[in-house]
Amino acid sequence: LKMEQDYDYLFKLLLIGDSNVGKTSVLLRYVEDTFNPEFQTTIGVDFKITTLELQGKVIKLQLWDTAGQDRFRNIVASYYRGAQGIVLMYDITNTESFKNINRWFEETQSYLPANTPKMIIGNKVDLASKRTVTQEDAQSLADRLGVKYIETSAKNSVNIRKAFETMSASILEKI
Ligand code: GDP
Repeated sequence: LKMEQDYDYLFKLLLIGDSNVGKTSVLLRYVEDTFNPEFQTTIGVDFKITTLELQGKVIKLQLWDTAGQDRFRNIVASYYRGAQGIVLMYDITNTESFKNINRWFEETQSYLPANTPKMIIGNKVDLASKRTVTQEDAQSLADRLGVKYIETSAKNSVNIRKAFETMSASILEKI
């Protein structure tokens, strides 16, 4: 059975970052427009498919979610294979998760071509009163790493669509 391809591009995007920063939540908000206040344990790796239209092109996004826990480290090599874009996520109320962006960035550099489009997301911007990472610090890290930076809230649906459109546009630019 031969199926006609119903999209122009298929992009594999990875969501990476410490556990609990909201990777699963951002993904579910974007793909299913839902939010669950409970912690969702990501067992190993899972991915979701969605489609968006950008610059007149239909783009199919394969969005991969993973657990940041060290016990899942051994899945890493196959997880990175063929990724066209990387979302590095931290929680604006968790300084440690921001510091670890450097570590996640270095890991991606060891598995993927250096010019693979990447973006830093500071999530949980709805918790502004608990913020411990300033926008200035995040922007200067993004500038130093040569990547884009955006703040989101999976809870309040802030910048979720914009984040994935910006990421996809960066990949399209390279094609
Ligand atoms: P992951 O381990 O990075 O996939 O993080 P989860 O998606 O499981 O989220 C961890 C916790 O943070 C859960 O309790 C979520 O409900 C919560 N969370 C995720 N995103 C947000 C957000 O934008 N705002 C707030 N206030 N909580 C969030």
